[in-house]
Amino acid sequence: MAQLQWIVVLSALSCLVSASDASDGDADALYKHYYWLSRICVEQCERSGCVGKKCFQHCKFSSDGKPIDGPWYMQEPLYLKWKQWDCCSDCRYHCMLAREEEREKLGKKPIKYHGKWPFQRVYGIQEPVAVALSALNLAMQFHGWVSFFILVYYKLPLKQNKRTYYEYTGLWHIYGVLSMNSLFWSAVFHSGDVELTEKLDYSSAVAFIGFSLILSLLRPFNVRDEAARVMVVAPLIAFVTTHILYLNFYKLDYDLNMKVCAGMGVVQLIVWAVWAGVTHHPSRWKLWVVVVGEGVAMLLDIYDFPPYKGFVDAHALWHATAIPLTYLWWNFIRDDAEFRTSALLKKTK
Ligand SMILES: [Zn+2]
Repeated sequence: MAQLQWIVVLSALSCLVSASDASDGDADALYKHYYWLSRICVEQCERSGCVGKKCFQHCKFSSDGKPIDGPWYMQEPLYLKWKQWDCCSDCRYHCMLAREEEREKLGKKPIKYHGKWPFQRVYGIQEPVAVALSALNLAMQFHGWVSFFILVYYKLPLKQNKRTYYEYTGLWHIYGVLSMNSLFWSAVFHSGDVELTEKLDYSSAVAFIGFSLILSLLRPFNVRDEAARVMVVAPLIAFVTTHILYLNFYKLDYDLNMKVCAGMGVVQLIVWAVWAGVTHHPSRWKLWVVVVGEGVAMLLDIYDFPPYKGFVDAHALWHATAIPLTYLWWNFIRDDAEFRTSALLKKTK
């Protein structure tokens, strides 16, 4: 039975790796043609404030860069920045709709613009389903983290110096904070994508995936020694930081970022899977469910499909699968804290 599970996981992972290479469909000539048209449209729109007959309030700038209307206190640079962001977002969206309409008339399937599918906005929210699911997942992470906190500090015995017996408490705290941070920016980004929210979302997601990779090395290999931890953590933090700086200040390369994130994701899944296969941890079945679930969910994010009725795309479904997995994951972490604590207490007695 264990062998069968292995085959399932490993074949799923090999699919993941080959799929990440196959996602270069973006580069075909037709796509380039439409992407180019849409860029011209956005540039024109930012100058004129209009797409076809539709014009936007936010795009009204005077020639010296100050807004034409509005009271003096609204004419601050910050306000101007917001206006530019709104203008850019409106232009991108309506240029995309215009392009999509043309494509639909020609009987062509939707394509991605600026790395995103064309979505139907609801009350100005770009991807309402993904926003709702990110918020739900954030609530689930918060619940998991708080119950972990209560368990280790109030239910389990503490050492004399008031620290927990469990050696990974601090690491899971950072994990909880980074995951909630990335889900918060994910919700913000899905409600409106401008350059700032996009960069914040990508950066915090990379930070979270990078840190969970660190945990996937420290916990299964049971690295408890401070010096050994630094040896593992330092190069990874350096790599993740460099990647974040690259995305923010050099080039927001969707393809490269996808490869980096998928790479870090696959490595941690493999490590957890191998560990789940060899460990005698009492809650290893939870680990199994999460690893297989995450593998399947990752396939969803890689085998991207256009939004159904303009609302639910592969990425939104991925956010949906993350909710029960988050619940089970924190459940495993709590079990792990209990398991390690009781093992350490037995040793000291
Ligand atoms: Zn998302």
